[in-house]
Amino acid sequence: MTMQTVGRPTRPEDVQPLDAGFTSLTGGRGLLQDEALIFERDGWGKTGVDLPPVEGSADDLGDLVRTRPIGLPGLSEPEAMRHYVRLSQKNHAIDLALYPLGSCTMKHNPRLNEKMARLAGFADLHPMAPLATIQGALTLMDRLSHWLKTLTGMPAVALSPKAGAHGELCGLLAIRAAHEAKGDPRRRVLVPTSAHGTNPATAAFVGYSVTEIAQTDDGRVDLADLAAKLGPDVAAIMVTNPNTCGLFERDIIEIARLTHEAGAYFYCDGANFNAIVGRVRPGDLGVDAMHINLHKTFSTPHGGGGPGAGPVVLSEALAPFAPAPWVVHGPDGLTLVEETVEEAAQAFGRMSAFHGQMGMFVRAYAYMRSHGADGLRQVAEDAVLNANYIKARLSGVMTPAFPEGPCMHEALFDDSWLEGTGVTTLDFAKAMIDEGFHPMTMYFPLVVHGAMLIEPTETESKQELDRFCDALIALAEAAKAGDVDRFKGAPYLAPMRRLDETLAARKPRLTWKPEPGVAPAPLAAE
Ligand SMILES: *Cc1c(COP(=O)(O)O)cnc(C)c1O
Repeated sequence: MTMQTVGRPTRPEDVQPLDAGFTSLTGGRGLLQDEALIFERDGWGKTGVDLPPVEGSADDLGDLVRTRPIGLPGLSEPEAMRHYVRLSQKNHAIDLALYPLGSCTMKHNPRLNEKMARLAGFADLHPMAPLATIQGALTLMDRLSHWLKTLTGMPAVALSPKAGAHGELCGLLAIRAAHEAKGDPRRRVLVPTSAHGTNPATAAFVGYSVTEIAQTDDGRVDLADLAAKLGPDVAAIMVTNPNTCGLFERDIIEIARLTHEAGAYFYCDGANFNAIVGRVRPGDLGVDAMHINLHKTFSTPHGGGGPGAGPVVLSEALAPFAPAPWVVHGPDGLTLVEETVEEAAQAFGRMSAFHGQMGMFVRAYAYMRSHGADGLRQVAEDAVLNANYIKARLSGVMTPAFPEGPCMHEALFDDSWLEGTGVTTLDFAKAMIDEGFHPMTMYFPLVVHGAMLIEPTETESKQELDRFCDALIALAEAAKAGDVDRFKGAPYLAPMRRLDETLAARKPRLTWKPEPGVAPAPLAAE
């Protein structure tokens, strides 16, 4: 007998239903053990390393000597390892399954990138190392800049912003500096209603007031509304293209023309560059500044908040205001422009203490070089093809928000198909977890009721897309058949059931305090 015939059932029809109310005795689930907080483990007296007591060294700290324990838990190395691995098992990862978060571009992260980023010549550099000793790293930054400028058709790039939102800040600071240099500080920034929340937040942070631009019925910027709201006090517009409805702004050249006619600059949110990389150069469309989320378009998904990198490409008009530093070719090799004098006299300052996210530069450059120019073009084409496959397959059971025509790299559905079922977008998303799929982006963009935004990316095969679509179709049919309990109580099988996300956001508990009698007291002072 082999495992194939007597092993654990692997097909859904073989799986025995759980007895109602079954719980394990320990909180474990299968081979996944329950895991307490690190502070609640009984490890206060322990340390992972045994060092002999220091002898013959009188301390000279005087009254600076610590009198109380610092309250760090003590774990042996295997305990620490298991703690974090167990926590990681409670989480989802792009290496486990498709991660369909719209707008996030969660694609496979090639291991080659990781290998390159760990090369000692990149990973072990100190940001203040003498320039003569880091010519390789500067060369990589120079070549990455070249690729970004070539792909976008823009003459300048600031590499140092550390995320998309940081890039938006960089772009608007350059725009503000350009207006101030003309002696014409302006007050307002126009943002479409479908924009990512970081756009209006960035504009407000830079000191602008924000005016919304309406959207047409087919999900694009309303040109008439834009024209009506442009005026001599408008500093910039911020438009995402393809936009957050997954649609190409087909009037983008007219949008740029109207904007420039009003003396404003065109900031393009480039988070969705994955859909057009290698096919469309934003510089040709009249864009003045655009951030590129290296951690989206050029791999390295950003679950868990990092790391990111958001270089900003700039037009001729904004290039003089780019923040330091940047790489230049000098007589003795590559150097960095660090001071805002001479050729950098108009630079608006700096975005970060040093040069940006070197590890992300290496990953992005490795991704570019392994694809090549034609491969990057195919990235965009396959990403769009995959999203349209999903849109086509799911349109039979779910309602696409914009049924007319193809979408770009993400397929957007609304919740009108759930009407009368008693199931909401949130319930549906939670039920996906029980089926082994991370939910799509929910309730964004805000312009679509009960939005479900699905972005598969180019790295999913047809088989994976079919598994995903089959699961969603089965769930949709269950919802329509009135199987409401499946949704209202979901997720049933996740490590955590439905959490009060509002309470968690409003009243986060960020510190741990020993509870008498529950957790061991910290070590007593010696
Ligand atoms: C992801 C995203 C951003 C912000 O990028 P971060 O790197 O997360 O700061 C901005 N706009 C859009 C449309 C995005 O999808």
